[in-house]
Amino acid sequence: MSPDRARALDYVDKLHQLVDQLSAPLEVAQGPARQCRRGCAGCCVDGLSVFEVEAALLLARHPALFTAGAPHPRGACALLDADGACRAYADRPYVCRTQGLPLRWAEAGPAGAPVERRDVCALNDPGGDHLVALPAAACWAIGPVEQRLAAAQALATPGEAPRVTLRSLFSTQG
Ligand code: SF4
Ligand code: SF4
Repeated sequence: MSPDRARALDYVDKLHQLVDQLSAPLEVAQGPARQCRRGCAGCCVDGLSVFEVEAALLLARHPALFTAGAPHPRGACALLDADGACRAYADRPYVCRTQGLPLRWAEAGPAGAPVERRDVCALNDPGGDHLVALPAAACWAIGPVEQRLAAAQALATPGEAPRVTLRSLFSTQG
């Protein structure tokens, strides 16, 4: 492994830990409205793809799972077990770490000016105008971490930005 690739993987690992630290208070702020728990897997959809550096971390940390394990049947994430729990939870990709949080991001509006969009898992939404009324600081901003992941990928594979489906990590394809 090249020094740059090793640095990139180490950076992604630390970035995952930082995401956990930053998202924890947002989870607490959701209070009893937050329904996320082990076995609740409606957000663990099939066909999820991640930056190759995140896939490489999963492969390095869970060699037995991906070489000898079987993927979950198609229709849900390949990493789920029979009880609906993630078999690589501690090393799950970034996108999985913020699922369930109120999310906000910017899109170009009709006049070209940025417009903020928001979303949250329906199970975690108390309804009404709760989501739109949340202060921005109570929502996870999509964008900054994605940019850092892209930078780490560029360090690991200059000139390329490969993405990898989680299902493709398994030697045995279901
Ligand atoms: S990697 Fe784990 S947390 Fe992420 S979608 Fe798959 S099963 Fe769910
Ligand atoms: S985001 Fe929704 S589907 Fe996913 S674990 Fe949380 S409550 Fe369940």
